[in-house]
Amino acid sequence: MAAVMDISYVCSLGLPVHVPAKTSKALLAEALQVAKPVQSLETTQDVGVAGQVDPPLQSSAAASKPLYMDATYVFQCQSSIEHSKLSEDGQALLVQLNQTVFHPQGGGQPTDIGRLLADGVPPLDVVFVSKDKVDQSTIWHECRGDVQHWLGKKGLEVTCVVDDARRRLCARLHSAGHLLDVAMMAAGFRWKPGKGYHFPDGPYVEYLPSEEGRQVDLKDTKAKELVLQELASKMKELIDRNVPTGIGYVDGTRTITMDGVACGCGGTHVEFSGEIGEVTIKKIQSKQGNIRVSYALA
Ligand SMILES: [Zn+2]
Repeated sequence: MAAVMDISYVCSLGLPVHVPAKTSKALLAEALQVAKPVQSLETTQDVGVAGQVDPPLQSSAAASKPLYMDATYVFQCQSSIEHSKLSEDGQALLVQLNQTVFHPQGGGQPTDIGRLLADGVPPLDVVFVSKDKVDQSTIWHECRGDVQHWLGKKGLEVTCVVDDARRRLCARLHSAGHLLDVAMMAAGFRWKPGKGYHFPDGPYVEYLPSEEGRQVDLKDTKAKELVLQELASKMKELIDRNVPTGIGYVDGTRTITMDGVACGCGGTHVEFSGEIGEVTIKKIQSKQGNIRVSYALA
């Protein structure tokens, strides 16, 4: 098995680079994201590069076609159950489907939530979605509800319904992180993007400092303030220009391009930067040797 490549949404490819987006249907690179299952979003902390909690969901079940990579604003699909099992506490049903519109938590992006519907059985709430730790082509849907009716239903045709408001919010939060990389480059910084955290409760991108390019003294309050203002201004300009998000494949890796800046990513994105809306650059601070730039959506 190839080494797991956690690209968070940018890190392993180094600096975002200007790469022409391709539209070939090359095979997806394995393991675009690291998943860290949790029981609820409220308890979720960081799931970016540093996600180190062992996911409890492991299996050698078959691959789940990741339809969420094809389109952000498709919220439903028809699927069939490949495999299911009760969680260890017996309270949840862990479902693997042949294909899914649910984005699994990972790469700094929260899990999608929603419902599974099928004839003859009560609907289930999908409360968490994650990639299998061993086989990252397998996606598990942690479902709650009257799960007893769903036991042993291999092959059952189901309708997947993603919570569209949450999907839209996640795409905006996540895409703002990409746009921040663009703004950072435009401002002359050459720091390598690392961990991204694109949750609603305080999103940020961390950068690895480099001696190349522009520098800023983080102990200089005035200098930091000027950088914040400059980044905010560049973000606004990029959003006002409504630049499109390009999705293609470079050497088999799904690659996202915004304003000519490309990086590897397995997440969901807005189609145009204008959908992100107003972005505030909140803080720039040193975090364990990295430089964290925090932002917020209006
Ligand atoms: Zn992305």
